[in-house]
Amino acid sequence: MSVLKSPDDTWLRRAAGMVAPRARNESAAMNLVFLGPPGCGKGTQAMKVAEKHGLPQISAGDILREAVQNGLEDGLKAKPFMDAGRLVPDETVVKIVTDRLRRKDCANGFILDGFPRTVPQAESLGWTLAGMKRKIDVVFDFDVPEEELIKRIAGRKVCKKCRVVYNVASAPPSEPGVCDKCGGGLFKREDDNEEAARERFRVYKAQSDELGLYYHHSGRYCKLDGAARVDEIFGKIEEIIGEA
Ligand SMILES: [Zn+2]
Repeated sequence: MSVLKSPDDTWLRRAAGMVAPRARNESAAMNLVFLGPPGCGKGTQAMKVAEKHGLPQISAGDILREAVQNGLEDGLKAKPFMDAGRLVPDETVVKIVTDRLRRKDCANGFILDGFPRTVPQAESLGWTLAGMKRKIDVVFDFDVPEEELIKRIAGRKVCKKCRVVYNVASAPPSEPGVCDKCGGGLFKREDDNEEAARERFRVYKAQSDELGLYYHHSGRYCKLDGAARVDEIFGKIEEIIGEA
């Protein structure tokens, strides 16, 4: 993931080295949730953590878009909401995500990227996991000011093949329009424009405080400064995972 390399990753390696020997049970599942508004950088961090620990990164947005593309029943239910930049009803999202968590590749854990977004979704997720004799280990909540988010989203490009997210301003690919990691073509998502982004943020904000409070009371909740450097945030996440 060369796009994310920073000249100052010595500190990051040291931080990772400090964490690794601290006997975390490698066979125990590690179930993580990454929360934050669209454009906060949680997808980038989720991908780094997923790669390092061999966990599937599960983005509700990606699964929903796939379901729409494949014309699945749940996808067709979700489409009008997604087109309008609004939240897809809980029942539909929860079903799509929890079906995904039952797959084999989630046996050692998973990273839920951008899900849950509401307290009812979080409750459904909790019940489903309890039924699987599992729980959420850490919830990371990314905090970024609105204007910074809008700026980021306007420059966002996503790889068609591997879903790595680039930013023409802050994290561009070495060759314009081409993914550094897999050579796939980059595209701008239809809903990555300022108007849609502001609407998404408004909808997100209305739910997130309540959700943050819910997780604060019911598990290991960690607020992160999403405006910090990518490697700095990653180091912090690794440190917390190592203690979990
Ligand atoms: Zn790619």
